[in-house]
Amino acid sequence: TKTIPSDIEIARQADKKPIREVASQLGLGESDLELYGNDKAKIPPHVWKRIQNRPDGKLVLVTAISPTPAGEGKSTVTVGLGQALNRVGKKATVALREPSLGPVMGIKGGAAGGGYSQVLPMEDINLHFTGDFHAVTSAHNSIAAMIDNHIFRDNTLSIDPRRIVWKRVLDLNDRALRHVVVGLGGKTNGMPREDGFDITVASELMAILCLARDLKDLKERIGRIVIAYRLDGSPVTVADLGVEGAVALLLKDAVKPNLVQTLENTPAFIHGGPFANIAHGCNSLAATRHALKLSEYTVTEAGFGADLGAEKFIHIKSRMGGIQPDVAVIVATVRALKMHGGVSRDRLNESDPDAVTRGLANLSRHVDTMRAFGLAHVVALNLFAVDTEAEWRRVEDWCAREQVPFALTRVWEQGGAGGEDLARYVVQLAEAGSSNLRTLYETDQPIRAKIAAIAQKVYGAERVEYSKQAEKQIAECEKWGWHELPICMAKTQYSLTDDPALFGRPEAFTLHIREIRPAVGAGFLVALTGNMLTMPGLPKQPAALRMDVDQDGRVYGLF
Ligand code: ADP
Repeated sequence: TKTIPSDIEIARQADKKPIREVASQLGLGESDLELYGNDKAKIPPHVWKRIQNRPDGKLVLVTAISPTPAGEGKSTVTVGLGQALNRVGKKATVALREPSLGPVMGIKGGAAGGGYSQVLPMEDINLHFTGDFHAVTSAHNSIAAMIDNHIFRDNTLSIDPRRIVWKRVLDLNDRALRHVVVGLGGKTNGMPREDGFDITVASELMAILCLARDLKDLKERIGRIVIAYRLDGSPVTVADLGVEGAVALLLKDAVKPNLVQTLENTPAFIHGGPFANIAHGCNSLAATRHALKLSEYTVTEAGFGADLGAEKFIHIKSRMGGIQPDVAVIVATVRALKMHGGVSRDRLNESDPDAVTRGLANLSRHVDTMRAFGLAHVVALNLFAVDTEAEWRRVEDWCAREQVPFALTRVWEQGGAGGEDLARYVVQLAEAGSSNLRTLYETDQPIRAKIAAIAQKVYGAERVEYSKQAEKQIAECEKWGWHELPICMAKTQYSLTDDPALFGRPEAFTLHIREIRPAVGAGFLVALTGNMLTMPGLPKQPAALRMDVDQDGRVYGLF
């Protein structure tokens, strides 16, 4: 087997075009770009005014089986499929999330695809890029500063300092900041109170940035954010503080989609990056909508497996944005199927076709979910070098029996050329109009009915149990009129249940709802099933240990 160079080595040798040329493939001229150097640009609002009434191209949603801790290559397949569609003669654009610096420095080491299916310039995209996340951080923390100042002054809003739900954020993994005390140091330094930090991608502002239709909508959503409760239990919003205008102002450039390119010069929008558990986990609606107007095919990704990412894409993003996927690609790997078949993580490199067969139960659950949504789908097996033919044939045979289109995908090793079969299936399904999309719940149903619909029709749960706290919070949501918002489930990505150790396709289980957190600005109710960390920690050997920059500014250790 030939050895594949590292991601950063491949990226360095890429034949990158000036972003002006990439934009011209989309029919965008120089005045349609705000250039950030030669290979990055933001798209200013006048472009949307010009293109908004055009018909949408086809939308391809890349999702996956329940992932293993390593990730299944969804981003890689998304980029590779975009490249492959261009190779089979379709004008295709990719739309992805921006990576968060915390995981890049922690375990991920980079999140811009991989191998010969990457987005460029990966050393910028994985670091500070066009500054969007820093803008979100500043905007978020400016609200926090306004809250503390309000209390320090005379607290005319009667904010209960024990019930401030707006924490501070930073785009790093820093467990030491999870719980802090602010306001220490005496009378002139504020009012002491318990506080904490979340990672920036967990900020409600990030979710808002990714769902807002325009600046007006952005400002209104910011105004609706609940930041605290009064002594009498009533909610206090950003609009009560009167700073929604200032916060929107801080985001005025961050809302503009970023245009870059893939290794094969396919246009790529990389914009926004909300958490996939306590938020909806996909790139901005603005980026997706621009791509849909500017190309025949848009390939986009939703975080985690189809139980989380695809469900939220359809129930939250599509519903709010008036868009609809035409085809879903379900990414599977032999490694993940083996884990679902009971193989431990340290034995994944040994061939075990029977374990693959056992693991197919997990794939079957996600295929059933696509059927429930009426969404046409194809299984993309993302091939790794150690996978044996005996193993991937088990997946192909199963798909043939189930009449699910199957494509072996080698985009990591070969770029777009390794995804042409997949591209042809996608085009076939999209052009035949094979989908008949339906949602699995209506937003005006009671909160418990909405949660039950997801638990039963997507996870395969038998029943749902609520903690005392969740019961109380449901009553509060009803009291304050938030009960007609869609649900954003926060569940472990590793299992269809709320127990990360239960692989495969568990049956007859109970889903436990621990807490309901209203995200009124984003426009959903977060239903937490386990203990969700909103500020990750660093591993024992952080990816940062391998990173470096030399005298000429060359980057090392991003992969
Ligand atoms: P996800 O989007 O599912 O988190 P990524 O596309 O980011 O996954 O891929 C996770 C990691 O696995 C990346 O480092 C990527 O380069 C690597 N990877 C993806 N597909 C393959 C493959 N077929 N062979 C080897 N490595 C791969």
